[in-house]
Amino acid sequence: MKWSEICIHTTEEAIDPITNILYEAGAGGVVIEDSMDLQKEWPSEHGEIYSLDPKDYPAEGVNVKAYLPVNSFLGETVEEIKQSINNLLLYDIDLGDNQLSFSEHNEEEWSTAWKKYYKPVTIGKQITITPTWVDYRSDKKDRHVIELDPGMAFGTGTHPTTVLCIEALERFMPHGASVLDVGTGTGVLAISAAKLGADRVLAVDIDQVAVQSAQLNVKLNKVQNIVQVRQNNLVDNIEPGFDMIVGNLLAEIVVRLAEEGAAAVLKPGGLLIASGIIQTKKSEVKEALAGHGFQVIDELTRKDWVALIAKKHRGG
Ligand code: SAH
Repeated sequence: MKWSEICIHTTEEAIDPITNILYEAGAGGVVIEDSMDLQKEWPSEHGEIYSLDPKDYPAEGVNVKAYLPVNSFLGETVEEIKQSINNLLLYDIDLGDNQLSFSEHNEEEWSTAWKKYYKPVTIGKQITITPTWVDYRSDKKDRHVIELDPGMAFGTGTHPTTVLCIEALERFMPHGASVLDVGTGTGVLAISAAKLGADRVLAVDIDQVAVQSAQLNVKLNKVQNIVQVRQNNLVDNIEPGFDMIVGNLLAEIVVRLAEEGAAAVLKPGGLLIASGIIQTKKSEVKEALAGHGFQVIDELTRKDWVALIAKKHRGG
């Protein structure tokens, strides 16, 4: 997986609100480099003073750095972050020079360094996602634990668009459902559907790397008797008869999914959970759904992202 480091040069008072914004935007980790830290004395438990390297710190002000996975959502996520930070001015928060800079890190450079930024996350009422390398033990019996090795594919579970899908699966998926996961990435939604009681899940992705990653994660989570993974473009040649489709794709691709026959693979009354839609494109997507056999019955939102729940017309 490639990671983009976003660095915001700001002030001490803006650290907390900016950190919140970055986590809500799906950052895997946030690092704070505060020039004031160099002037403090840091006695450790054993009495020695930590020596901090001035090279790691800005000359003045604070650097807030976050690591975002490079994927098709990155452009919109960055716009959303900039907008939210600028909105802090409305609350009279001093942003200092508010400079944003980026650098990309590829997997080899990072080796395993990025892994430390992945932590187990709890989503909705029933799911906890933990990276495979963390020895996670749940004390809560009512949570399903999903182990994920994200590798090069998208879908660690932390992105707001993924969280919306898992919440929608919890709320809208009938027990024993047959589910089609379009754009499965790591397989996170297909595995969640299986853990939440689906009888059969078909997970497809156009990208062979994602297919391999999903296949691995399906086995890690021992749901291979429920989840089948294959390479496919949207719903091309998919046999009909699903109770539900879940697709965490961008707005443009959700529109294509509707145009290219999502309704045809669902049973009458079946549901489509369409996520990855930025607020500004919601009405465009709603129109496409209405024009292709669906009625939008609910919408869930998180920050600037929307997931639409659409029902296939009966008799459609
Ligand atoms: N379902 C995961 C990943 C979402 S990212 C999650 O919710 O976290 C979107 C995924 O859709 C990517 O893996 C991308 O390869 C896939 N995708 C994009 N266009 C597609 C298409 N036309 N057909 C199938 N999959 C597609």
